[in-house]
Amino acid sequence: MGDEKVERDQRAERIAEFIEPLRIEPGTRVRLAKDFDPGYKAGISKKKDGVELLRTGVELLADYQRRLAAQDTYGVLLCLQALDAAGKDGTIRHVMSGVNPQGVRVSSFKVPSDEELGHDFLWRYTRELPRRGEIGIFNRSHYEEVLVVRVHPENLLRQKLPDAARGPDVWERRYREINDWERHLSDNGFRIVKLFLNLSKEEQRSRFLKRIDVPERNWKFSSADIRERAHWDDYQRAFSQMLSETSTPWAPWYVVPADRKWFARVCAAAVLAHTLIDIDPRYPHVGAAARRELAEAERELKAEKKKHR
Ligand code: ATP
Ligand code: MG
Repeated sequence: MGDEKVERDQRAERIAEFIEPLRIEPGTRVRLAKDFDPGYKAGISKKKDGVELLRTGVELLADYQRRLAAQDTYGVLLCLQALDAAGKDGTIRHVMSGVNPQGVRVSSFKVPSDEELGHDFLWRYTRELPRRGEIGIFNRSHYEEVLVVRVHPENLLRQKLPDAARGPDVWERRYREINDWERHLSDNGFRIVKLFLNLSKEEQRSRFLKRIDVPERNWKFSSADIRERAHWDDYQRAFSQMLSETSTPWAPWYVVPADRKWFARVCAAAVLAHTLIDIDPRYPHVGAAARRELAEAERELKAEKKKHR
């Protein structure tokens, strides 16, 4: 029993150390290109070793998710942000491959509908929040509101805001409002895990070319992706500022190196595992009265079997 606990603690410590370089210390000013290398792989030289690590991570997540689902105090929200072809879909598919689909909800956010534009900018994200016991995954998230909306200001015009809410301080206000919203959620038992998949421009080029070249991948490519690529530098600036302004003690950002898909998946699993280990969800305690009920039910079931023999 004691040994098991020591092993668990050591594993938790290894995970914490592994993700430490990816975490953005709240209050630091980030310049993506200078501060984070999309090709970083933490000294793991072989993909094979990474795949093995991911397998262990997926098993760990499955175990923790079962426990999370059994309690009703905490919920988890995983937000994934990235440029096109950074591997959001594959990350979700691989990292969540071992967990019970009943306890997980994935929501994807596209260009807002008329109904969504009829509400405040956080409304559609609030509607998709996980409940206690669940892991909610946002494939794109409320952070689009300070990314695509910032890079393409016509999106802001469509949001029907009063003049006062559209002034030059709109982004500062949104950062603050997002931080406050996340703080509210975290105070109420919802842990927020924020991952930015950091892809290099060259790797995006090569993934786009593959999508064009391989017929089975053609459907994944859209000409809009090339149009967005033309705004690469604007996006890098918007991401850098978002990371600087919205990495908070209650919901820090992690920058996941995304040029190697296998490594990005290991990192995503590790950050999620770190959060679940920290929550340490427990199966509900069965009290004396409930145990008596169980014993009574057992007696009845056994007696039934004898009768029917
Ligand atoms: P994939 O291409 O892998 O299917 P995706 O998330 O890129 O997934 P798309 O349908 O290609 O999905 O793109 C969704 C688009 O919606 C993105 O370009 C994104 O920037 C845009 N979008 C998301 N939120 C908003 C928003 N609030 N305002 C304007 N555009 C948004
Ligand atoms: Mg797309």
